[in-house]
Amino acid sequence: MLEKDIEQILFTKEEIENRCAELGKQISEDYKDKKPLIIGVLRGCVPFMERILENLDIYCTVDFIKVSSYEGTNSTGTLIIKQDITTSLVDKEIILVEDIVDTGLTIKKLIPLLYDRGAKDVKVCTLLHKTAREKYHNDLDYIGFFCEDHFVVGFGLDYNEYYRNLPYIGVLKKEIYNN
Ligand code: 5GP
Repeated sequence: MLEKDIEQILFTKEEIENRCAELGKQISEDYKDKKPLIIGVLRGCVPFMERILENLDIYCTVDFIKVSSYEGTNSTGTLIIKQDITTSLVDKEIILVEDIVDTGLTIKKLIPLLYDRGAKDVKVCTLLHKTAREKYHNDLDYIGFFCEDHFVVGFGLDYNEYYRNLPYIGVLKKEIYNN
């Protein structure tokens, strides 16, 4: 049913899972002597966060934050915290888990906020990075896949809250959001 709205599949479930296993292994190696706090950026992070966590063989804790800078397919420019972290960030080594870094605005605004609250270090792990629309540069430490300038959905990514449950990442047909 959902598949009829998809123009093209960019990354299959298997490709995503294999990449998550690689990223998990790399993070486990990098953090083997640390106990990071993994913060998922809701809601898009959920399936990716789950795949990353199951591939981590380290002591780590988990929290979530919900922010918004988007309405429909457009960035509004301001970051609103809709649901906050409940863990203390003092002296924590944090890995932020994002579904996609597009203009870079969300991460750019989120990272200083975490440092302001006492974080010792903040690294970013994103499933996708759309370089074409990057306006705010961030150092991204772990990148699942680079992605062309399409509006993509699936594997956590939504269009008006739908399509998050697609097991793959695909390009949404333009007629869906132009209507
Ligand atoms: P940025 O602040 O880097 O421009 O955008 C980050 C947020 O924008 C992501 O967490 C995501 O919610 C949303 N976003 C950006 N590009 C896309 C896209 O192609 N598809 C979907 N579903 N969301 C996107």
